[in-house]
Amino acid sequence: MGNITLENVAKRFGEVEVIPPLDLNIEDGEFVVFVGPSGCGKSTLLRLIAGLEDVSGGRILIDGQDATEASPAKRGLAMVFQSYALYPHMSVRKNIAFPMKMAGMPEDEQKRRIDAAATALNLTDYLDRRPGQLSGGQRQRVAIGRAIVREPSAFLFDEPLSNLDAALRVGMRLEISELHNRLKTTMIYVTHDQVEAMTMADKIVVLQAGRIEQVGSPMELYRNPRNVFVAGFIGSPK
Ligand code: ADP
Ligand code: MG
Repeated sequence: MGNITLENVAKRFGEVEVIPPLDLNIEDGEFVVFVGPSGCGKSTLLRLIAGLEDVSGGRILIDGQDATEASPAKRGLAMVFQSYALYPHMSVRKNIAFPMKMAGMPEDEQKRRIDAAATALNLTDYLDRRPGQLSGGQRQRVAIGRAIVREPSAFLFDEPLSNLDAALRVGMRLEISELHNRLKTTMIYVTHDQVEAMTMADKIVVLQAGRIEQVGSPMELYRNPRNVFVAGFIGSPK
C-alpha cells in the first residue's frame, strides 16, 4: 500500500494558478523526489497530497481510492516536519507518542511502536531527554520517529534537512535512504538540492513554475534531459 495517483490536479491561490493541471503516478514503495527552484510549487504539491491544501481541480487517488476530499488524518500519510516542530517541553518519548495519544491508541500498542521506532532510529538511549538536549540530527530523527509510529502508507518530507549543517545533512540523507530500504514504504521527498535528488531518488520529478518538466530515474534524467532547463538543473552535459 502506498500508491498515489494525481489526475489533472491543479491549484490556484486567488487569481494565480500555482499548479496548472498535472498528472503523476507514484508506485508503492518508490522513493520519489520533487526537485525544482524555490517557489516552483514543490511544497504546494506535497501539501495537496497530504490534504493540507484543497485542490482547485482534479483528483487524488491513494491506493485506488478517491482521497480528494479526505481529511489529512484519513489519508494514511505522514508528513515529516523539520525538527524544530518538536514540542520542547515534552520528552522524546512523549513527542513520538503524541500522534498515537491523539488517536486514542492503547498504551501497550503505543509502547510497542515507540520501541520499534526508537530501535530503527537509534534513539533508544534518548527517549527520556527533551529536544533541547539533543543534536540537530537526533532531533530530526525524533521528527521522523513521530511519523513512523503512525505506520503510514507513505512518508512526505518537505526539505527536512534544510536547517542542518552540511556535514550533518550528508549523514541524515544516508539515514533516510537506509530507512527507506528497511521499511520499503513510499517516500515523497521535496528538495531544491540537485545532489539530494540525484543521490536519494528512485524517481525524480523536476518542477518549474508548477509544471512537471520531466519524470525519470536519476540516470534517465542525466542521460536524456528533455530540455535545457532539466539539463541545467540536473547538471547533465547536454
Ligand atoms: P516551493 O516549495 O517550490 O518553494 P511553494 O509551493 O511554497 O514553492 O510556492 C509556490 C508558489 O505558490 C509561490 O509563488 C508561492 O508564493 C505561492 N504560494 C504558496 N502558498 C501560498 C498561499 N497560501 N497563498 C498564496 N500564494 C501561495
Ligand atoms: Mg517549499
